[in-house]
Amino acid sequence: MKRRYILIAAAGIAILGCLFFWARGPGATGRGGSTTKAKPPATAVFLIVVDTLRADRLSCYGYGAHRTVNIDRLADRGVTFDRLQSAASWTTPSMGAMLTSLFPTQLGLVEIPARPGETFEWRQKRGQRSHVLPARTRTLGMVLHDAGFYTGGFVNQPALNFATCYRLGFDDWYWPVGPNQIEKYDPTQRFTPQEWPSTRYADVSDWGLVGQFDGWLEQHGGEERLFAWIHLLTPHRPYEPAEKYAPAPVDGVTEKPTASQRYDGEVRAIDDMIGKIVGSIERHVGWDRSLIVFTSDHGEALGEHGMTEHGHSLHREVVHIPLIVVSPSLSAGERMDRLVSAVDLFPTILALTGESARAPSDIVGTSLIPLIDKDAHRMLYMEGMLYGSTERAIVDQGYKLLYDQQGDVCSLFDLTADPEETVDLATQQTQRAAMMCAKAQEIYGTLLEDHWKRRARAGQEGVESDEDRQRAMEALRSLGYVDD
Ligand SMILES: [Zn+2]
Repeated sequence: MKRRYILIAAAGIAILGCLFFWARGPGATGRGGSTTKAKPPATAVFLIVVDTLRADRLSCYGYGAHRTVNIDRLADRGVTFDRLQSAASWTTPSMGAMLTSLFPTQLGLVEIPARPGETFEWRQKRGQRSHVLPARTRTLGMVLHDAGFYTGGFVNQPALNFATCYRLGFDDWYWPVGPNQIEKYDPTQRFTPQEWPSTRYADVSDWGLVGQFDGWLEQHGGEERLFAWIHLLTPHRPYEPAEKYAPAPVDGVTEKPTASQRYDGEVRAIDDMIGKIVGSIERHVGWDRSLIVFTSDHGEALGEHGMTEHGHSLHREVVHIPLIVVSPSLSAGERMDRLVSAVDLFPTILALTGESARAPSDIVGTSLIPLIDKDAHRMLYMEGMLYGSTERAIVDQGYKLLYDQQGDVCSLFDLTADPEETVDLATQQTQRAAMMCAKAQEIYGTLLEDHWKRRARAGQEGVESDEDRQRAMEALRSLGYVDD
């Protein structure tokens, strides 16, 4: 057993090297040509994340049932990436990965065995899942703050608000502390669970944050360097859109709307919020120096593959999220169909602000700038499960493999012929499935090894306190992720 472990570890080191290679390697193939214009780097950065937003419910991604005019306008101004995949299937690991350019297992944001060689048993290990980033982890906020950016967080997501690490690097932090009540975070204030907002009021809180953001920009829009992260929660369940956005009656008859129709209502509300946010940026900062990155943390199953919500699947409906990048140095109305990962956003933002040299040396993502389709053979990796699922996924050479570690089951999909991932080819293409399955396990082993090293390096600093754990669990409970 020990010998086998050493072999896996050795293979793992080589694979991590490969991961870095595919992340950073050159080799332009396919559609080429940079559209980057010779302009000074952006000095005002706006990361807009809409929780639980599927790319395919936006009209700029081809949705026909409604028009998301404000998001479409943003797409007209910048570059739309057609195939961004989240690194994980739910908020905490996904945002941890986006903001650090490291995978959730490296960060310990997924359930993992406590020690090498230990059997994974999710029910026993559930309490061992961390909700905070390991000590010494560098986030986007910290790096930009160190680069002289004045930083503001506007975050309506309990799972992120109550894990202190996400706030590090922010000069100002605004959050909802109750329905229709936004407050500026005060580090001396005590945490009171009763004040946590419910997802039922997500849209009200989001509108409050949008208003707060406008006021903040009015005050700070003239800062030489500026960074804001806005995280909105409206499309998260229970999908109760305000009347203005509710599904319209069909032929004058009001049917009970489906979950999918109600979800669309929330997306329409978000579109209006994006219009307000962009209006604030236009008014107080202007386009000449603004970098806007519009994205999500994960999608949402609305019946596909017999599932609802997120956290338990890495199928397309849960991991295909939008990405629109508007920058003075990028051409307007461009589309990129290359396969990209949310771990790429951190280095991309640093590249567009002229701060690539500040990227931590161990990140796994790659800058999407210049805009060339250089990764035709790039392999993507995803993970991060809830509800006891231990699924991981890799996408390689047009195929997607889902591996459920717990049941030791693989599913294989041909993304070219079957983008909806409906026909499992694992029993037909057994050799491909076995190879990709082994690869998924090897990558996971490598990331796990890296996590233990990080934890050892951080020592006691990396161990979350009981209070941190309690806060995070309460936050997840408020979102409905934890059963009592
Ligand atoms: Zn989320």
